Parts: sequence; C-alpha cells; structure tokens
Amino acid sequence: MTGSVERVSEREVLAVGSGFGESVAALRLAEKGYRVTVVETGRRWQQQDFAGSAWQVHRVLWAPWLGWQGILRLRVRRRLVALTGIGVGGGSLAYAGVHYRPDADVFRAACWDPTVNWGRELAPYYALAERMLGTAQVARAAAGDAALRKAAEALGMADSVHATRVGIHFGPPGQKVADPYFAGRGPSRAGCTECGRCTIGCQLGAKNSLDHNYLYLAEQLGVDVRPLTTARALVPLPDGSWQVHTVHGRGAGQRPCDADGASCCPRRRCLGHRRAAAPPFAAVLVPAVARARHHRANEPGGVRHRVGAGI
Ligand SMILES: Cc1cc2nc3c(=O)[nH]c(=O)nc-3n(C[C@H](O)[C@H](O)[C@H](O)COP(=O)(O)OP(=O)(O)OC[C@H]3O[C@@H](n4cnc5c(N)ncnc54)[C@H](O)[C@@H]3O)c2cc1C
Ligand code: SF4
Repeated sequence: MTGSVERVSEREVLAVGSGFGESVAALRLAEKGYRVTVVETGRRWQQQDFAGSAWQVHRVLWAPWLGWQGILRLRVRRRLVALTGIGVGGGSLAYAGVHYRPDADVFRAACWDPTVNWGRELAPYYALAERMLGTAQVARAAAGDAALRKAAEALGMADSVHATRVGIHFGPPGQKVADPYFAGRGPSRAGCTECGRCTIGCQLGAKNSLDHNYLYLAEQLGVDVRPLTTARALVPLPDGSWQVHTVHGRGAGQRPCDADGASCCPRRRCLGHRRAAAPPFAAVLVPAVARARHHRANEPGGVRHRVGAGI
C-alpha cells in the first residue's frame, strides 16, 4: 500500500497556467498516466460569454479591482508593456489564430545548435500541433489582402505574399457540426463567419482555442482544471517534490501570498494546506512567459530551470 501511495505522488504534476505550453503538457502527461492539476488565474469561458464588441471592456480586459474579468491582461512595467491572454485556454482565447512555421533563417540564429537540422527535426511536431489546432489556410481573400499584395508588388516582393494559415474551422459559415478533428472525441464546432472578432473571443466556436482541443481532451482524461486559482509560491521540499501555495477568486492575481501558509489562502483551499490529504507535487510546469517581477526561488518565475524535475 505504501509503495502505491508513493507512486501516485511521483506521478503527480501541477501545471501553472492553461496556455499553450501548459495545455499541451497537461494532455500529453495525462496520456502517459500522470495525475495532472492545472491552476489558472483567469476564469473559464463559455462561447456566449465573450464580448460582442470591443466596447464591452469588462469582458475584454482583465482588471479584477474594477470587476472586469476579460481575456486580455495588460501589464505596464518601467520598460515593458505586456498584453497577454488570461482565462482557461490562456493566450488562445484572445490570439488571432495565425499559425506560422519559422523560415530556415530563424534556425540559423546563434541560439540554435548549428549541428542539428532544426527544420527537419521539428517538422513532425509542427505537423502534429497543426493537426491538433486545426490549422487551415484562409480560403477567401479580403480587401486587406488585396492591399497587402499591391504594397508587396510595389516593393518587388509579390512572391512573399501568400494566404494565411490559421487555427480556425472553415465549415459552412455559422453552421454547427459534430467534432471534425478528433474522430468524435472533441467538441462540436461552427464554421467561421469572418466577423473578425477573434482577439476578443470567438462567440461562435469557430476558433480552435485550447479549450476546444488540448485542454478539452485533457479534461476528458481526468485532468483537474481550476480556474480563478493563482499559484503564488512553489516551495521545494527536501525529497525533491514541491509544495504549492495558491490563492483563489477573481482577485487572485493580485492578492499577496504568505509562503508559510499563514495568510495566503483566506478560504482554506490552498494546495499547500492540503498537503496532509494530498501528496505534494512531483513536478511543476510554469508558463513559458513567467512572472518577470519576482525572481525568488520559491516563486513560479524562479523555478523555470527545474521544470520537469521528477518526470
Ligand atoms: C491579442 C493577441 C493576439 C495574438 N495572436 C497570435 C497569433 O495570431 N499567432 C500566434 O502564434 N501568437 C499570437 N499571440 C501570442 C500567443 O498568444 C502567445 O505567444 C501564447 O499564448 C503564449 O503561450 P504560453 O503558453 O507562453 O502562455 P499563455 O498562453 O500566455 O498562457 C499563460 C497562462 O498562465 C496563466 N498564469 C500565469 N501565471 C499564473 C499563475 N501564477 N497561476 C495561475 N495561472 C497563471 C495566465 O493567466 C495564462 O492564462 C497573440 C497574443 C495576443 C495577446
Ligand atoms: S467567427 Fe469571427 S471570431 Fe470566430 S474565428 Fe471566425 S472571424 Fe474569428
């Protein structure tokens, strides 16, 4: 019995955030038999809850101190202004859905090991991601495309213009169809109407945001996704596992946390407090863009070099 409990502990993973990095990891680790929990600062969205226009700022921007719980978080620092997605699905809720594969030039940069043919090495993974995210070429050229082509021609670069590839379902516009991507295991989708509101959230369900693919399938496998839950402190334990402190509620992204557990969780749902009932996490995955403000070793931004430990 003791051995069995220990194995569960070793195979438990916490993903901090539910954007691209965490959702992919959550699904793949769940498929491999890990018990995965995902904590996400933002709320969970139903299609009909997205803003109907950019003027509905309370559904577009995240500013909990004003009661706004939108899908875009704006952070202004001394030398940086960052606009990021927030909510179950992370940046995919608000991104434009454009999918590019990098040109060969990108891999010639000094940061890439020149002894590896990265284009060839990564090609199967791009193909897999495109299949999962339902990448398709935009079929119809709009007025903007014609203007772009004209400008490119004037610059002698007409051959660089091509139709954009996007993670959007282009079935019959506005029509709902049964899952076209995962042999019936995924959610139903609707055909894009080209309304152009992708960056404030797709009300139709045509944009293939993560809650329609990686996260959806992960939850089918039992991954526990907790919205409005922010990880505030990750405390490494002597046995190599982690104790996690979280805060809850719509202001969770702002509320301070006491890593000792004294005040970080007014509602007593902090994962750190649950340690006696549930074993600490064996590995912690943090968003690719972690909080840049703090670099203390016990905070999400300070443990990136240890991501994956124990897996
Ligand atoms: C308006 C807009 C349009 C874009 N369009 C495109 C596009 O067309 N094509 C493209 O390739 N890219 C686009 N991007 C960029 C793309 O969205 C990001 O590169 C991508 O989302 C980054 O993925 P990620 O996994 O790093 O994290 P994200 O997708 O940003 O997800 C991180 C998640 O972690 C959560 N989180 C962070 N810290 C904590 C914590 N401590 N506890 C709990 N949760 C936490 C956040 O709330 C967020 O939901 C766009 C971005 C924006 C803002
Ligand atoms: S229906 Fe509108 S919001 Fe949805 S994917 Fe198409 S253009 Fe974007």
